[in-house]
Amino acid sequence: MMRFDYAEPATVGEAVALLGASPGRAAVIAGGTDLLVQMREHVRAPAQVINIKKILGLEALHFDPAAGLTIGALTTTRAVETSEFVRRHYAGLHASVVHFASIQVRNRATVVGNVCRASPSADTLPPLIADAATLLVQGRSGTRTVAVEDFCTGPGTTVLAPDELVTRITVPAPPPHTGKVYLKHGRRTEMELATVGVAVTLTLDGAACRDVRIVLAAVAPTPLRAVAAEAALRHRFVDAASIAAAAEAAAAEARPIGDVRGSAEYRREMVGVLTRRALQQALEAGR
Ligand SMILES: Cc1cc2nc3c(=O)[nH]c(=O)nc-3n(C[C@H](O)[C@H](O)[C@H](O)COP(=O)(O)OP(=O)(O)OC[C@H]3O[C@@H](n4cnc5c(N)ncnc54)[C@H](O)[C@@H]3O)c2cc1C
Repeated sequence: MMRFDYAEPATVGEAVALLGASPGRAAVIAGGTDLLVQMREHVRAPAQVINIKKILGLEALHFDPAAGLTIGALTTTRAVETSEFVRRHYAGLHASVVHFASIQVRNRATVVGNVCRASPSADTLPPLIADAATLLVQGRSGTRTVAVEDFCTGPGTTVLAPDELVTRITVPAPPPHTGKVYLKHGRRTEMELATVGVAVTLTLDGAACRDVRIVLAAVAPTPLRAVAAEAALRHRFVDAASIAAAAEAAAAEARPIGDVRGSAEYRREMVGVLTRRALQQALEAGR
């Protein structure tokens, strides 16, 4: 590992000042489960590592029936996994952290770190996008809100400016009769990145679809909203025929590549299978 400077700011203001002082050469560290691996493997060599763990107030995890869910920058995936209100109101997000790494990693890995890593196979991104979550971003010139859907620009890249960090995630409260599902498919169930992931958030109006968001993981450079699949369902009766049409549309929208985890053809096929399964489960959950 190369030599680097190390800082432990006490406030978000200090952290963004440090980031701004060496633009593009400093890296924020939270749990370190991605950054340290990248530094060991010489994928990244920041001149300065800024540890945000000493900043008070970033471990928030709370739910308000009107405002929704707040997840602070230091909230671990384990805290989300063991939260009763996440399990009850955000079943897709909950599912995404259950088969995530190992319990040791989950005790360190933050949800915000998973988002900022911007991996196409990141598990928390699809359900957060399906739930229309937003990020609060702070830089030297103030704060701004970014939809998680607009955050990733490519594998490992985001819209963050060099002096900006994410302080929290907000996930809107779900309307009644909303079913949420995240299905992760890998070569094994534990300690595995997704070969394909599908998140669905489906809101019903009787037997019809009032709204739906379908998000695919690991089949494009960034998490992908399957907008044609959503259009095949929105304001229509949710039945076997419309679910099959949506699943077919999702498979057509995927832009997979082949790698050690699976061929492009296999991934596309699995998008169809998992989308159909996720919609059926979301329909049951939303009734
Ligand atoms: C053995 C192992 C298994 C894994 N399994 C999975 C898995 O099943 N699914 C999965 O999705 N991932 C998995 N990962 C990846 C990793 O654990 C997650 O991405 C984790 O959530 C990252 O969080 P962290 O707090 O450790 O981030 P860090 O490593 O601290 O940071 C990750 C990136 O985000 C940036 N960052 C962190 N916080 C902020 C912030 N507040 N503002 C701006 N930038 C920030 C950092 O600069 C860095 O670029 C695994 C990793 C390991 C080592």
